[in-house]
Amino acid sequence: MRCPMCQEESVAPTLKVGAGDYSACPACGGLYLDPYPAQQMNAVFEGDAAAAEQQALEVARHDYFLRHLIRIEKHMKRTVQNWRLMEIGCGSGVLLQAAIKRGWHADALELSPELAEIARQANPTAGVTVANVLDHTNGAADYDAVMALDVLEHVLDPALMMGNCCSLLKPGGLLLLQTPNTSSLRFRTQGAAWDMMDPDQHINLFSPRGLQKLLERSCFEIVTMHTVSGTGMETGPARLTAAAKQWLLDRGKLGNALCVLARRRS
Ligand SMILES: [Zn+2]
Repeated sequence: MRCPMCQEESVAPTLKVGAGDYSACPACGGLYLDPYPAQQMNAVFEGDAAAAEQQALEVARHDYFLRHLIRIEKHMKRTVQNWRLMEIGCGSGVLLQAAIKRGWHADALELSPELAEIARQANPTAGVTVANVLDHTNGAADYDAVMALDVLEHVLDPALMMGNCCSLLKPGGLLLLQTPNTSSLRFRTQGAAWDMMDPDQHINLFSPRGLQKLLERSCFEIVTMHTVSGTGMETGPARLTAAAKQWLLDRGKLGNALCVLARRRS
């Protein structure tokens, strides 16, 4: 099979990991569900109770979202001036709200109708569309930035998602992605017990090399790639400890998730 992440045909046998649910691509070291699903699984956040639970989690991660937003702003080299942000998978809209407060015009795609409604009520100026990014193929290339945190691993066709992100962004626009990391210390030490190996939700799990290939085969050049660890919910002294641990792990690209900032080529 052609790897959904690096697009290479396997030249060596794929390695079964995790009770036969995942195969490891010998070319990039990413993991993909085997057998590969015909449809995307999105049941997890459906219903009011799941939406409320997700909202509480996102509120606790507000500062974490803000740090991602500020990372984008720093690379745009100017103060925010009517910039346009598209968030893919906005959940209850906590990041949208933070962006709007900082002067962005922000829109979003969200799969869950319940979460999209919460996001709309919290952000009346945002255009929140209930849609899968894979179906959103008619972008007008008028966004300055696109963010997708913890989305890529759920998507059936990562290359199509990248193409659709290209069609949303202005030339030179920035894409920020975060997704689990198969080069992480956790996967290296826990193997099949790594909690990101979740066949009900995660279809593709990327290595740094697989993510780099996916982006470069699309319209992007990588600006920065680093790894993150921790929950993003730490505060006070725990936040300092988490930051130190993250810095140490990132020196070997060993953090639990990859965070990449990429620029659409002109
Ligand atoms: Zn691969």
